Amino acid sequence: MKYPKIVDIRATTVTVPLHAPLRHSNGAHWGRFVRTLVEVETDDGLIGLGEMGGGGESAEAAFRQLKTYLVGHNPFELEAMRFKICNPTASLYNNRTQLHAALEFACLDIMGKFLNVPVYDLLGGKVRDTVGFASYLFFRYPHAQTGAGEVRTVDQLVAEAKALKASHGFTAHKLKGGVFAPDYELEAFRAMAHAVGPDSVRYDPNAALSTEAAIRFGHAIEDLNNDYFEDPTWGLNGMRRVREKVRIPLATNTVVINFEQLATNVRDPAVDVILLDTTFWGGIRPCVKAAGVCETFQTGIAVHSSGELGVQLATMLHLGAVVPNLAFKADAHYHHLVDDVIVGGLMPYVNGEITVPSGPGLGVTLDRERVGKYAELYKSLGGYAYDRDPGRPEWFPLVPNAQWADHRETK
Ligand SMILES: [Mg+2]
Repeated sequence: MKYPKIVDIRATTVTVPLHAPLRHSNGAHWGRFVRTLVEVETDDGLIGLGEMGGGGESAEAAFRQLKTYLVGHNPFELEAMRFKICNPTASLYNNRTQLHAALEFACLDIMGKFLNVPVYDLLGGKVRDTVGFASYLFFRYPHAQTGAGEVRTVDQLVAEAKALKASHGFTAHKLKGGVFAPDYELEAFRAMAHAVGPDSVRYDPNAALSTEAAIRFGHAIEDLNNDYFEDPTWGLNGMRRVREKVRIPLATNTVVINFEQLATNVRDPAVDVILLDTTFWGGIRPCVKAAGVCETFQTGIAVHSSGELGVQLATMLHLGAVVPNLAFKADAHYHHLVDDVIVGGLMPYVNGEITVPSGPGLGVTLDRERVGKYAELYKSLGGYAYDRDPGRPEWFPLVPNAQWADHRETK
């Protein structure tokens, strides 16, 4: 068989608006997502798609530089590409895990298109046709122009959870916390959990709490229908101490994000559920490998979201389709977007689930008109700092955080 060879790598940064700015423990998403779309082209004219968060011009330059590594490379040779891009000792100087992830997505997309099969068939075959998602609730600033979409009060949070459940059919609900003082967020989380009961809930303050505050918060929610308690505090040792004292499974997308950390967690458990992120782990295949390790040790898994447009969402859906041990709903920021860059626009949720694309490769196609429009929007608005809060310009958080936002302030 004559295999294709990579001849070009192109990157385009786009900005897609959100319904309202999303607040988190380190800053905010300022009313939009900035994502870099990657197109890997082969000598037979196939184009594979990848996606990476943020970066803008620097991401585009980084992908351009990696073109010199990969022109002539056979996209089927994924393990060889891993060592070309992510050699572990070279990575001490040049950590390219996230860049590699976007290139791996694109190579899998090419392989699927070349063989006329969906990516899930390259990964062992699907064991489910749809992937279920949790509602992902954020405290939100109001939309800068319309003033709509604020989530700050307990009533606003409860109303937003009920509205998302009604519109999307979610049966699990995640609150992104770490914004306001823990006692206030406890009141809000409990009210939300009761409002959506008997649905399951999960609380994730992005490691903003001290170990002791995390234990106190955990004790106060033990009676709820928790999927898990996500990154309440920072570090494997902090998590291990919380796990000793709180009777809720602990989950992480921060302290077990590579195989070294996964091995450490197997030897000396600190976390019960590993949230697999196709970008943080360097691709879909590393997540599938990690899911296999977790299956062996009966450690839980779920699919993590670090923000996504349709290309990245497709990687999450193909991952979710092939891992038999997926016992939790996946996370996605996707329902906060007002549009997507793929043909057909936003993929629909039905009963809280999204259908796994079944076309060749990742099964999504870029809509050139939308890409052009949102590339222009990126050029006009520029980037934003994920780790800055536009409403609190003086604030830089400590870990654990010591200065919470004031829930009475309307700005
Ligand atoms: Mg998290």
